Amino acid sequence: MQKLIAVIIFFLFSTLSLYAQYVNSDSLIIVPGFEMPMTLNEFDSLRFESPETEIVPGQFVLQPHIPSGKILSEFYLPSDGKVISRFGPRNGRMHSGTDIKMNRGDTIFAAYYGTVTRAKYYYGYGNMVVVDHGNSLETGYAHLSGFLVETGDNVVKGQPIGLAGRTGRATTNHLHFEIREGKRAFNPELVFDFENGKVRNETQSAYNLTELHRALTPAGYSVNEATPQHYKVRSGDSLWKISRRYKTSIKTLCALNNLNENSVLRVGMVLKLY
Ligand SMILES: [Zn+2]
Repeated sequence: MQKLIAVIIFFLFSTLSLYAQYVNSDSLIIVPGFEMPMTLNEFDSLRFESPETEIVPGQFVLQPHIPSGKILSEFYLPSDGKVISRFGPRNGRMHSGTDIKMNRGDTIFAAYYGTVTRAKYYYGYGNMVVVDHGNSLETGYAHLSGFLVETGDNVVKGQPIGLAGRTGRATTNHLHFEIREGKRAFNPELVFDFENGKVRNETQSAYNLTELHRALTPAGYSVNEATPQHYKVRSGDSLWKISRRYKTSIKTLCALNNLNENSVLRVGMVLKLY
């Protein structure tokens, strides 16, 4: 009898632990073969009603025709910290993510459900985790001091996936966080308001990142070059140089800053770019 009870208790616990990864999440999950995301209750009842549907717990194979905006609106802040470098051109190179100040060993969390497609050292990125969320959406987490996941792991939203560090090309402990749609890097600040530690409301109405980018940045502003709204004039700058660097026109810069084409730029003066 005692043995039987032990077996029942063991069974209950192993069943509970199987589901534990879904607990604490009030968000929707996406199940292969179903167009719309569903709640956990719906998911659980589905398992009993349609036994022929093969659903492996923990596997979130996302459908390509679900608006990724829906996913973005449910993103989880990967780390809580101050933005120290923004997405956009930096020293003649493209900075393809947002840098967030961290202390060594701080926990980094998965922004959304998905599959880990990389958890290893990768050139200047140092130790890097990449999570594929389906829908062509990926997030990347670089300069880690340690990994909490392996390639091939399925992760849930908010799951600890790594520890902050400064591996690769990094001068300080920080998280370099990237969001990609169709392999193209977008400004993570389109999705997150890092300052207030939340997801932007605009994500709810956007179909995908490209559309979100269009909604949040002025027309004609190229997808891969983003962020700075202001520019501080340096020695040797001219309106022409600045307009070239930020893909705008002298005319626009003049209109935004009450200048004319012959205005003298003082070093240190701050210009509106958009
Ligand atoms: Zn970076």
